[in-house]
Amino acid sequence: MIHLKTPEEIELMRESALIVSKTLGILANEIKPGITTLYLDKLAETFIRDQGATPGFLGLYDFPNTLCMSPNAQVVHGIPNNTPLKEGAIISIDCGALKNGFYGDHAYTFEVGEVDKATQKLLKITKESLYKGIAAFKAGNRVGDVGYAIQKHTENEGYGVVRELVGHGLGRVMHEDPEMPNYGKRGRGKQFKEGLVVAIEPMINLGTHRINQLRDGWTILTADGKPSAHFEHDVAIVDGKPELLSTFQYIYKALGITSDEEVPFRKEPLVI
Ligand code: MG
Ligand code: MG
Repeated sequence: MIHLKTPEEIELMRESALIVSKTLGILANEIKPGITTLYLDKLAETFIRDQGATPGFLGLYDFPNTLCMSPNAQVVHGIPNNTPLKEGAIISIDCGALKNGFYGDHAYTFEVGEVDKATQKLLKITKESLYKGIAAFKAGNRVGDVGYAIQKHTENEGYGVVRELVGHGLGRVMHEDPEMPNYGKRGRGKQFKEGLVVAIEPMINLGTHRINQLRDGWTILTADGKPSAHFEHDVAIVDGKPELLSTFQYIYKALGITSDEEVPFRKEPLVI
């Protein structure tokens, strides 16, 4: 069942989403070769609690930590540990926060030191596909329109679109209807309406789309061992159009990057 949100609820969801955005910005300052994912996890948990929120993933379906930390060939749902990150690695960090009864949930794939060209391109194209998907998330369009946009942009490069894991509706529950696959056919699936809030999150592999799961019961990794990228935003339909609730601007500020990629999806400029 789809739960459409009122404008007031959407503002509460923006608050939760921005707590996640700020958390990712703090982590961006810390990521370098030698750092451990468990250290970053504790940093994130402390910051989220300091905001009067609770970590959205900790304990959800019995997940043991605040962050899903998925380096290199891990797609999503990696568990933080004490292994130092290596120069040239990539790491997907997925974070959730719960405040005022609503979840924020978004993710970014970071480079650790200098990353090879093919992997850099995978990250660039995957992030572009996220915005292609967001552009298709408007009133009257359907689930398949978003999936089609993401799939077309990434498969054009020969990349693999993960099938088993999908984006989702977001609200008082972390995973609400509708499911938002990163593949699909135009004009198919549930229709988008005013007040719908979803997490759009392409999970794109450099090689095959096929995946395996580790025996820990959580970690998803590519079947061929090649890298995988993951970017996720929280988006609402406001006045019929996609409105970003989350932002990567805290990350970009930490990394010294400027980008206008979010401008088309925000009615008012974001002050950070
Ligand atoms: Mg997520
Ligand atoms: Mg999600």
